[in-house]
Amino acid sequence: MTVTSARNLREIYADSEHEKIVLWSDPASDYRGIIAIHSTALGPAVGGTRFWNYASDEDASYDALRLARAMSFKNALAGLPFGGGKAVIIGDNRTTHREEIFRAHGRFVETLAGRFITAEDVGTTPSDMEYVLKETSYVSGLPDRSGDPSPMTAHGVFRAIQASAQHRWGSIDVLGRTVAIQGCGKTGYHLAQELKEAGAKLLVADVDAEKVKRVVKEFGAKEVSPTEIFGARADIFAPCALGGIINDQTLPQLNVEIVVGCANNQLLEETHGNALHEIGILFAPDYVSNAGGIINGCRELLGWQRADTIIKVHAIYDTMLTILELARSKGMPPFRVADALAESRLGASGILTDDALEFTAERPVDDYLIRNGLRSIPIKSGRH
Ligand code: NAD
Repeated sequence: MTVTSARNLREIYADSEHEKIVLWSDPASDYRGIIAIHSTALGPAVGGTRFWNYASDEDASYDALRLARAMSFKNALAGLPFGGGKAVIIGDNRTTHREEIFRAHGRFVETLAGRFITAEDVGTTPSDMEYVLKETSYVSGLPDRSGDPSPMTAHGVFRAIQASAQHRWGSIDVLGRTVAIQGCGKTGYHLAQELKEAGAKLLVADVDAEKVKRVVKEFGAKEVSPTEIFGARADIFAPCALGGIINDQTLPQLNVEIVVGCANNQLLEETHGNALHEIGILFAPDYVSNAGGIINGCRELLGWQRADTIIKVHAIYDTMLTILELARSKGMPPFRVADALAESRLGASGILTDDALEFTAERPVDDYLIRNGLRSIPIKSGRH
């Protein structure tokens, strides 16, 4: 780990639009962490805790800031009464000293007195959050409460895929379409399952051989190497690993019509979103697609019933289709439309207003609702 000079960090933070950024260390437990709160305009900032061996403090700070902003936008466009924040713990997430690390993290979260509520993310688990709970009540995603959000995240992304397919091909049907999934972890696995059930063909890659083997075995997916997945010939590329995956190296390799997946911050830079738009690849904004996880957390955070969350996740189809149609009508990349709508909801002056989401799309009832016994529940249309 490169220790960055305070001056560099100050420069990174000075450029940010975040409300609060706090660094914390606990030498006794070898804990170092950052919490970035982007906005509390809509409510307390909610965001997961990522545990990662960052190459430098700059990388960790940059990740925390970008992820916190994405959480603000995600919560705003999902219509949730939350702001956006994110925590990162700097270190090797395979550590066996989990109790010490996560209790230190809990004490850090507690210092913010409810302005930030956390949950699990990459490198952390619902069980780790039980250690956080020993020090603070501002934690969710606990094993015996809302639990693993990944199936709901994957279902929301499946709905975003249907909206993208409808927009691009005039049908939500993915039967016979080929989807290249990068990452067969918690979300990638569940997305592969839903796509398989819907009749899609799957190409999958993971740096972890066991994870990819499971998806190949259970869903008849075809394995490709982690380096080949970007150039795989497919209809859809679904990034379900880490962020920044659409970059100068990968973008020219893409051989698909649509990019839509579970990963946060898929674009390394906004320029990559513009470039996708220019070459005619539809990029479905990630924080709209992957809101299912935080919506699942509303069972714990807001006392929602499971049925409420399923309906809300289902509505990602409407939100995404609205954004894609608006983008088409304005000749803008969809991610820019999504950002503008989110900024509008956060109170910043924007080029689009919140009213744009009043648009009501057709909402096809799919097998997921039927399987979950929700067919009889009226589905509200319009704003959600
Ligand atoms: P995970 O850790 O369970 O899975 C990620 C997988 O990606 C792992 O199997 C890992 O081996 C693999 N991977 C890492 N680098 C890779 C590479 N270069 N090539 C191929 N595979 C690679 O994490 P997850 O919970 O599935 O989350 C995946 C992404 O989705 C993250 O960006 C996360 O922030 C985002 N996300 C997750 C949720 C959720 O509910 N879990 C919600 C919203 C967003």
